[in-house]
Amino acid sequence: MSSAKGASKKPVGAPSALHRGHNPFLDSVNAYFDKAAAVLDHPTGLLDQIRVCNSVYYMQFPVRIKGNIQVVQAWRAEHSHHKLPCKGGIRYAESVDQEEVQALAALMTYKCAVVDVPFGGGKGGIKINPKNYSAEELERVTRRYTVELIKKNFIGPSVDVPAPDYGTGAREMAWIADTYQAFAKDEINALACVTGKPVGQGGVRGRTAATGRGLFFAVREAVNDPSLMKKLKMTTGLSGKRIIVQGFGNVGYHAAKFLSEGGATITGIIEFNGAIVNPKGLDVEALYAYRAAKGTFQGFTGGKFVKEGNSVLELECDILVPAALESQIHKGNAKNIKARIIAEGANGPVTAEAEEILLKKGILVMPDMFVNAGGVVVSYFEWLKNISHVRFGRMDKRFEEGSNTRLVDTVEKLTGKSLSPSERTMIARGADEEDLVNSGLEDTMISSYHTIMEVFNKNLKVKDMRTAAFVSSIDKIAQSYLSLGIFP
Ligand code: NAD
Repeated sequence: MSSAKGASKKPVGAPSALHRGHNPFLDSVNAYFDKAAAVLDHPTGLLDQIRVCNSVYYMQFPVRIKGNIQVVQAWRAEHSHHKLPCKGGIRYAESVDQEEVQALAALMTYKCAVVDVPFGGGKGGIKINPKNYSAEELERVTRRYTVELIKKNFIGPSVDVPAPDYGTGAREMAWIADTYQAFAKDEINALACVTGKPVGQGGVRGRTAATGRGLFFAVREAVNDPSLMKKLKMTTGLSGKRIIVQGFGNVGYHAAKFLSEGGATITGIIEFNGAIVNPKGLDVEALYAYRAAKGTFQGFTGGKFVKEGNSVLELECDILVPAALESQIHKGNAKNIKARIIAEGANGPVTAEAEEILLKKGILVMPDMFVNAGGVVVSYFEWLKNISHVRFGRMDKRFEEGSNTRLVDTVEKLTGKSLSPSERTMIARGADEEDLVNSGLEDTMISSYHTIMEVFNKNLKVKDMRTAAFVSSIDKIAQSYLSLGIFP
């Protein structure tokens, strides 16, 4: 076992040395950073510090699996300590490696800054395919991983706060919280050591759907922007827009659900084992229930099954939402993409090389660091709930209802007219936790969209939305370092 935190103090490398990883995803994130850094006036040393990964903990630990001892490889990267705690999901996948974890951690730093969440970026990964393990085995792996993080101070409410990512969910987060609590008996904020927990274990209502819901708000804001739509030669509004989604997990399913409820037509959904298409629109809920029962789209009567799933990425549509994994749109298929807008639900689904091709074709790429930030925004709300030890709305819901009722009574008395019982209930209703979480998420996504677009529209050196988001984000982090000063 080795810890880079504290133990490995040597700098990871300056942008001049580049430290290009062999993982194309890390190369892409660094290339995007460099492109934005080139239009900024901050000192090179400061940009170096923002770009490098502050610490990485690589661990290998034994777990008993089916009577044998298996050595499991895992990582936790803390990309930036400019604000604490660090924040970022934990991924369970066979493809996990150190550079992927570092790329994801870096994205978290930029993402938090872009949506004004006061955290540094972090990310964790365990190199396993969760489908090959029973729930009991996954619990053992998760708890042992948590203990490793505790031993090296890579987890804690004020240090580093994981969340779900690809291959993990509320169940794993509950195991992490329970393990951490066992070791931190006197820590009153222990539950804030991880977010994305089940609601009964300190989670917040609205977290599961947050990333897909946030994506919906981001896309809705873009298609309702008349000047952007004019540039893209598209009509305004979501109604009737044809959308293809790749990945039908947490992000993909919720994105498809909210976009379809918002008036868009979901014409294709892609999974690793085949896609389903219907130009008239797919019934998202029916498809979700079908896949949950059968594990495939094959046989679903509401659309045509396509065995070569990824070929559907290249079909005609208005908006493409890659919401599965990174590097799905690469230099090999970018030239065939026909969508007018790509909204990145996944982290890093478009490689830097592919983006150059897409931009030349006039396609708008809405970047992951903004589009899928809904998860971390609501994770921030969950962390706030945990450290304040009270459910949102608990103090004021009834008071608000009482005030609204008195207001309605007064209006009725003055006008001599009465509202129906359902109108009365609707107007008087006070906001509960989920209302407040969704409202905070909507406000964050809308105001972040306008901050990014202001850079995009006003800075003549910025030619694309991702660079605009990076510029906005790097500027905020630079200001934070400049006002903090550098500790000797
Ligand atoms: P998930 O495990 O719930 O779902 C991923 C889905 O993609 C699964 O249904 C899987 O079968 C499918 N998939 C895998 N390979 C595929 C392929 N080649 N083609 C099509 N589908 C494929 O994971 P998730 O939480 O939805 O995460 C998806 C992406 O979104 C990841 O990049 C993750 O980092 C990112 N993300 C997730 C969150 C969150 O809150 N969950 C937040 C921000 C970003």
